[in-house]
Amino acid sequence: MNIFDIPAFTDNYIWAIQIDDSITVIDPGDSKPVLNILEEKKLKLQDILITHHHYDHTGGLLELKNYISGKVYGPKNQNIDGIDVSLAENDLIETLGYEFRVIETPGHTLDHIAFYSQQTDVLFCGDTLFSAGCGRLFEGTYDQLHDSIQKINELPGQTKIYCGHEYTLSNLEFVKSQISSEIVEQKYLETLDRRAKNQITLPSTLETERKINPFLLETVPNDIKDLKEVDCFKELRIRKDNF
Ligand SMILES: [Zn+2]
Repeated sequence: MNIFDIPAFTDNYIWAIQIDDSITVIDPGDSKPVLNILEEKKLKLQDILITHHHYDHTGGLLELKNYISGKVYGPKNQNIDGIDVSLAENDLIETLGYEFRVIETPGHTLDHIAFYSQQTDVLFCGDTLFSAGCGRLFEGTYDQLHDSIQKINELPGQTKIYCGHEYTLSNLEFVKSQISSEIVEQKYLETLDRRAKNQITLPSTLETERKINPFLLETVPNDIKDLKEVDCFKELRIRKDNF
């Protein structure tokens, strides 16, 4: 399975899974960059996968639906126009010969889902978990987002994390302010260098995130490490919102 990014807006990534001359796209917030790639690389569009209802993840859906030979898969949310198959926890879908399991991850939005392929150790997690950070709480509770992130944390360490935004550098600036760690420092310098060259910092792996992402609660600031897990998570999220 080849996966590549199609940049959109200022910091969104539309992910594309490619097998031979067909692609399936995840979270096409804009149709134009996808149509450009189809034309440029002479590719066909198979399916569309949607993680949540935000416009920067769904804005290109209806236009691109005219080009697919398969289906649009997404959360159970009547406010998203164009979904053919509504998904819930543990539903299995197949695209381009690969199976993905649906993981419900409410918090950032209530309808948020992630797509996990055990076969290839790939997770498309939208705006739930970012590299060195996590999504903002727009609709859910701290408990919900914490539980969703812990569900992701149960996956194997080698799971590759394909998230919806290039936020790694600013996230690491926050982490640096909270945790003194050689690994975080190293990751920060590496990320700084990549961004200076306009290179992508994704995918990350869960193994790496456990060392650099305090929201997984494996590595947390000393002053809050004795709090109850969800309180620690809440405090981190509040600190990040105010950073
Ligand atoms: Zn979002």
